[in-house]
Amino acid sequence: MHAESGPTSAADSSGTHKQALARMVDIVGPAHTIADPERQLPYVHELRGLYHGNAALVLRPGSTAEVAQIIALANEARIAIVPQGGNTGLVGGQTPSPDGTEVVLSLARLNRVRSIDAAGGAMIVEAGVTLADAQAAAEHAGKLFPLSLPSEGSCQIGGVLATNAGGTAVLAYGNARALTLGLEVVTASGEVWDGLRTLKKDNTGYDLRDLFVGSEGTLGVITAAALKLFPRPADTTVALAALPSLQAVAALFQLAEARGTGSLTAFEFMSRFTLELVTRHIPNARFPLRDASPWYVLLELSSFVEDSGEAAMQRLLTEASENGTVSDAVIAGSLAQAQALWRLRESASEAQRPEGGSIKHDVSVPVARIPGFIALAGAAVEHVCPGARPVIFGHFGDGNVHYNVTQPPGMDKTAYLALWGEMSRAVHDVVASLGGSISAEHGIGQMKRDELVRFKSPLELVLMRKIKAALDPNGILNPGKLL
Ligand code: ZN
Repeated sequence: MHAESGPTSAADSSGTHKQALARMVDIVGPAHTIADPERQLPYVHELRGLYHGNAALVLRPGSTAEVAQIIALANEARIAIVPQGGNTGLVGGQTPSPDGTEVVLSLARLNRVRSIDAAGGAMIVEAGVTLADAQAAAEHAGKLFPLSLPSEGSCQIGGVLATNAGGTAVLAYGNARALTLGLEVVTASGEVWDGLRTLKKDNTGYDLRDLFVGSEGTLGVITAAALKLFPRPADTTVALAALPSLQAVAALFQLAEARGTGSLTAFEFMSRFTLELVTRHIPNARFPLRDASPWYVLLELSSFVEDSGEAAMQRLLTEASENGTVSDAVIAGSLAQAQALWRLRESASEAQRPEGGSIKHDVSVPVARIPGFIALAGAAVEHVCPGARPVIFGHFGDGNVHYNVTQPPGMDKTAYLALWGEMSRAVHDVVASLGGSISAEHGIGQMKRDELVRFKSPLELVLMRKIKAALDPNGILNPGKLL
């Protein structure tokens, strides 16, 4: 366990502490305060059941000004604040500590789209706007906000940016950082930094925006963001291809990039076992090809010329099957079919649940090293737990592998999950030996904090801690996370 010297421990029972909490309730109002532990449950537990916390209070402020007042009080009284969006994070970054002294600050009520500038390619949204609502607002204005995640119906922009989320469209459009033009942030002292610029070019010194993006709520609380918008493609074509080997997957990726002339907007891969679990456990998921194959790729081509995508996909897959790269493929002939293919890929995580315990890794390596990584990681996993079953899928084009390992059939789930630390260390050692990263898109949170120390250089860690100390000298913002 982390020996948190926490901002709250000394002040815990003091009158100032209680007074500060009472004043926080006054700021948001009793209707937007949750003190009852039963009603706090959706905010202190997370989806996968890995982290369970307790909260002194859950506060749901309705404006940036209220957030600023709460943080200023927290800073004075040394009360730890855990900022939270849709509570969909996968590394425990949004979960308070178990000791019940921290305040969860839900940004959900800051849910306005403040402005959209279609011509300028930018929109300003508040932190609590869900990703799906941000996409819909862009679409309403005839534009595209490309970031796409399985949790987009519930994850919120503040959390998406604080974790620098990735997803399936990173290949063409970049991760959350690349889509952020500006931010509004409440600092640890309760001041509001209005950095909501919508400039494409702004070369004026230290990039504070990039410091807060990916900081996991440890440097400031993002309350609004200026996001980049793109033209909507006229036409999108989705296909699923079967391939005999990972080398063939790599060859198809190269070919798709070369032939797609910049319009390759997704290149997702899945192992045979992953697709087997999806078709076994997900209702209405049907296997769309003739025969089973070791690997599958979901490709998406986007085109700005009406009705040209399908022909381009056809040419690409014909060439790939003629040279032996692809053994079978299906092109979606309708929107419903395209959605069905996407659902196969997006259900990969969910399909593991009925199989028992799963030890998850979100790693990246240079694309050319993915085949080597999967071979070495497989051996490492087998060494730690013979019979454990890797469920391999991810964003091949980004070198991002979701290397999830499902327990051997019949093994006790708790006994299996007790191997998490040992297995993760083994997999992460392979990642490091190939020049990769132990967190490609999920962040560090609580889950990988101790692992981070093994993979960052001492100098990098010193610089990160100096930044934390400079921006949050009292350590009130999401303590125990990231660092
Ligand atoms: Zn992913």
